[in-house]
Amino acid sequence: MLKEKKNELERTYIKDAFSKNGKVFLKGWVYEVRDLSKIRFVILRDVSGQIQTIGLDSKTDKESFELMKSLNRESVISVIGDVKESKQAPGGKEVLVEKIEVIAKAENPLPIDVSDFSKTELPKRLDYRFLDLHRKETQAIFKIQSTIQQAYMEFMIKEGAVMAQFPSIIGSSSEGGTDLFNVQYFEKKACLSQSCQLYKQMLACSMEKVFAIFTVWRAEKHNTVRHLNESRQFDYEQAFADDKIVMEVLGRCVQYIVKRVMELNKEELEVLNVKLKVPGVNYLTFGEVSEMMKKYKIHVGKDDLSGDAEKKLGELYPDTVVFVHDWPLSGKPFYIMPKGKDLSYGFDAIYQGMEISSGGQRVHLPELLIERLKAKGLNPKDFKAYVDSFRFGAPPHAGWGVGLERITMLILGLPNIREAVLFPRDRDRLTP
Ligand code: ATP
Ligand code: MG
Repeated sequence: MLKEKKNELERTYIKDAFSKNGKVFLKGWVYEVRDLSKIRFVILRDVSGQIQTIGLDSKTDKESFELMKSLNRESVISVIGDVKESKQAPGGKEVLVEKIEVIAKAENPLPIDVSDFSKTELPKRLDYRFLDLHRKETQAIFKIQSTIQQAYMEFMIKEGAVMAQFPSIIGSSSEGGTDLFNVQYFEKKACLSQSCQLYKQMLACSMEKVFAIFTVWRAEKHNTVRHLNESRQFDYEQAFADDKIVMEVLGRCVQYIVKRVMELNKEELEVLNVKLKVPGVNYLTFGEVSEMMKKYKIHVGKDDLSGDAEKKLGELYPDTVVFVHDWPLSGKPFYIMPKGKDLSYGFDAIYQGMEISSGGQRVHLPELLIERLKAKGLNPKDFKAYVDSFRFGAPPHAGWGVGLERITMLILGLPNIREAVLFPRDRDRLTP
């Protein structure tokens, strides 16, 4: 069996066919069919690219030639043929078809337009995401998202951080505030994790530098272009660190990610018509940003930036990770270290006009933590195990979280975060 297989012509990816001459065996999806009666064209696509195949009445196997005019778009076929130079063909090469076989027929009509010029709206595309993924643009986004994850891991491993996995079902709220999705855990009530905050902190207090790609669920009933109810986060936590140290790490991390996308995804960036620049880094205090925004008559909250202020920062500092630090204490969660009475060692990072990350130095002192919980109207009893974890040798530590879909959206300038998640979970969507 194995021996027989060896004698078969091996499949060539379309991208590689361009550097070949002679016989190739291609597999892929029918993108377009053109019938000029004695000449028939099929544009074939696979994950690596697309190529024109040409059938000639005189040269192509009779049955295959017949087939060429009746192929449905997006059907899966295999093609055996000769790669030939052609001045008219895109890329300067085409495949003269010897034989075509249908591997899997696509029904006609397709439920959505999957051409490069598709005008099908996003909700409909998401209903048929499996088919939307036949499109070059959609594939480009998720190839780039794959690089973003790879680059994040590469960066963190080079930093000497340990990759961690945390539980997604938890016994009680990890942060307070946000709405949670409840689940029944045998006879107990549990919920889906809204963040791995407390776990990554506990881990940093022994392993020093830790990171994770962690799925979070937030039952917030918003319906915006920047929020999902299920999203993935790049989390980082470092012992013996303050806000300054981890902001610097985050700046380099975003720079590294963008640099890797520029290196590894040239073709995809071209498909999406995106020109990237490795971002610079800038530091401003919350107070400085508030003052600055007065000039532009843009509202800034007492302890939070408005969407308009984030947008303005994006305009003022394009291609820059802007760290807004010395954040008002009242605007940060209980676990963020106070800086004096009103400020904190917490920060947000704004990139291309939107928050990509929140972070800061944590409270590692149990008594202060209890005080902060109370100040936020939370019951320290509900956080006893967490507080107690800092009683037996917990160093100062700091960290941050970046949304994977959020950073994908901002790097690529996508208008809606749903473009940056394969199968979104939002206020209305639970399928596919
Ligand atoms: P935002 O102000 O944008 O609502 P947040 O301050 O509530 O975000 P954090 O809890 O600070 O969010 O989460 C850290 C990061 O995770 C954010 O900076 C963002 O990149 C991402 N993120 C947060 N919430 C969502 C969400 N609902 N959908 C997608 N990404 C999110
Ligand atoms: Mg935040």
